[in-house]
Amino acid sequence: MANTGWDEFEIGAMLRSFDGAAAESIATTHQEERNYSSNNSFTASVADWRIEKPIFNKDYCIDCQFCWIYCPDISIISRDKKMIGVDMDHCKGCGICVEVCPTNPKSLLMFPEQADEETEIASWPQKEEKEK
Ligand code: SF4
Ligand code: SF4
Repeated sequence: MANTGWDEFEIGAMLRSFDGAAAESIATTHQEERNYSSNNSFTASVADWRIEKPIFNKDYCIDCQFCWIYCPDISIISRDKKMIGVDMDHCKGCGICVEVCPTNPKSLLMFPEQADEETEIASWPQKEEKEK
């Protein structure tokens, strides 16, 4: 499909998210493998304007999937109900996944965009003791 400016569409024009059969694509492929049309926001990355990013520490994760459910950008990658990481092309750094993560310490924490993942995981916070 040719690129069309936002102000060139006719009123009521419909933008298709997929090239080809959408239902089949959704049912049989993972999100990053689907045949998105150039209209779909999946083809755009927000990585260059994010100032904070989540880092995932799998040592504490209980695969509850809360982060996957609540992420507003479908940027949590989960396979067979196991959390495996964050899609950094589409994560906008909102921190919601960190807020909803129930583990102690959290399995996802926010860091500045330039932070080194290995370094931060090596100095992950310890479990917080509850006040008695
Ligand atoms: S920081 Fe926001 S956009 Fe990024 S993975 Fe977490 S919930 Fe999704
Ligand atoms: S919310 Fe936390 S514990 Fe649950 S799947 Fe996500 S990272 Fe793992």
